[in-house]
Amino acid sequence: MFFAFFILSSIYISKVNGWGVTGHALVAKLAQTMLTKESEKFVRNYLPWYTIGNLSMLASWPDIIVSPNTNPIDYLNWLWSRELHYVNVPDWTCNYDRNRDCNWTSRQRCVDGAIQNYTKQLADINQDNIQRQEALKFLVHFIGDIHQPLHAGFVGDKGGNLIRGNFFDKPTNLHALWDQLMIERRILLDFQNDENKYYDYLFNLLQTTYAHNISQWSKCPSDEESHYVACSTVWINENIELNCAYIYRDEDNKPMNISYEFRLGETYYNTRIGILEQRLIQGSVRLSGVINKIVKLQKHEHHRKKNNDYSFVSYVILFVENLINNY
Ligand SMILES: [Zn+2]
Repeated sequence: MFFAFFILSSIYISKVNGWGVTGHALVAKLAQTMLTKESEKFVRNYLPWYTIGNLSMLASWPDIIVSPNTNPIDYLNWLWSRELHYVNVPDWTCNYDRNRDCNWTSRQRCVDGAIQNYTKQLADINQDNIQRQEALKFLVHFIGDIHQPLHAGFVGDKGGNLIRGNFFDKPTNLHALWDQLMIERRILLDFQNDENKYYDYLFNLLQTTYAHNISQWSKCPSDEESHYVACSTVWINENIELNCAYIYRDEDNKPMNISYEFRLGETYYNTRIGILEQRLIQGSVRLSGVINKIVKLQKHEHHRKKNNDYSFVSYVILFVENLINNY
């Protein structure tokens, strides 16, 4: 009984964890370095005062509120948000279809719908501050989640949660391996278990190896995508391509599934850790891109409103002047 509960709760926790606390913090901290001055001001305005505008401090908030371990009394009130952390596609279907996978015409309750919805809320100057603060906190997290390939995994194995096996002889499941175990191993072996050293390394990668990719990663390739540059369907399709080619394949290139236990080690780790790091960096580029774009559009919107107000005031003055003159 206890064992069954343990398995269930570990599935439940890993299901919503996204990158795990470290991965989410890394994405947010990298994104912070690419914010414009105006965006820095904007996030400081919308995040609680104690964060001093640090996105990374609240990057795991949507995981914390929904877990009975970290929010034992209130988590039930947030259960509605659980399905917003991911999307699933039919097994070995190597593309994403909004209607099929996220019920686009009605509910849109998946990470794609969540990102579209919260970018709109954050950009809407008519929303109240509390709504916009919540939208920002969800967005920071979900743009991280959507770059973890198994957050767009196969439905039959619940994004890799039901595929079990061993990673360097440690029992785990495929989803947890991508959420946490690979990052933990990397930091432990190559960065003296120091997350800050790993952050410095990724920051350097962003500025060197990936510097020429930033502008392309910051854009939506087609006009159909959101004008807030939140091209979530593109990001999901990137995951699915990776899933079919690498993530769901073992060291002999054999597809992994729920019916056999995987044994993964050096080969899988060495050939996939670069993919994982690129996804963290892409997540940060997209997150900063979306915030910068929203702040820019909002500035235009304020200008427009101000100009309209001015033209209204000058219209009233003219009208009154006319009245006086005629009188
Ligand atoms: Zn999540």
